[in-house]
Amino acid sequence: MTQLTKLAALKKIGVLNLQGAISEHLSVLQHIENVQAIAVKKAEQLDELAGLIIPGGESTAISRLIRQNHLFDPIIQFAKQGKGIFGTCAGLVLCGKTTTHNEVEQLKLIDIEVERNGFGRQIASFETVLDIETIGQQIPAVFIRAPYITKVGSQVKPLAFVNHHCVMAQKDNILVCSFHPELTSDDRIIKYFVQLC
Ligand code: GLN
Repeated sequence: MTQLTKLAALKKIGVLNLQGAISEHLSVLQHIENVQAIAVKKAEQLDELAGLIIPGGESTAISRLIRQNHLFDPIIQFAKQGKGIFGTCAGLVLCGKTTTHNEVEQLKLIDIEVERNGFGRQIASFETVLDIETIGQQIPAVFIRAPYITKVGSQVKPLAFVNHHCVMAQKDNILVCSFHPELTSDDRIIKYFVQLC
């Protein structure tokens, strides 16, 4: 009986398994109670998921692989069903609507304009702590050739800033951040995403 209750509460969260920081996200998810972490490469796998993380990596490579693996429209449908999507770093670029770099085919899941490698031109990688409304204070964040958000649509909520640049935003079931939350031991951001799903 107890076992059945536990299974019913299990949330399946996928990590897009094409390129980038895949195992790091899977490992954080595996440590969250009542979450089953799944590496996702095929559209059919999306059916069983409550949420999907699009990891950091190379947005040009990931966007090409999304097409090659016939995942472009299925991911858009997944988001339309109200299921959770969390785009981190390159994943933010992919979830965005417009970018200065048109070699990336964006999924346009959230109305944000993205400056790809925005921080990269100033300083390639850095670590900082963020106070994020609704999530918590002093959350460590690792930025690696990170993008930032230059414009948000009226329905999109900006959640965090670094040097006046927006680095995290949410619209309902779609969450994006320009850093790598999976590379620190603080799992508050990923837990927040799981709760959204
Ligand atoms: N600069 C990379 C890109 O846009 C993102 C870097 C990252 O995900 N750490 O593809």
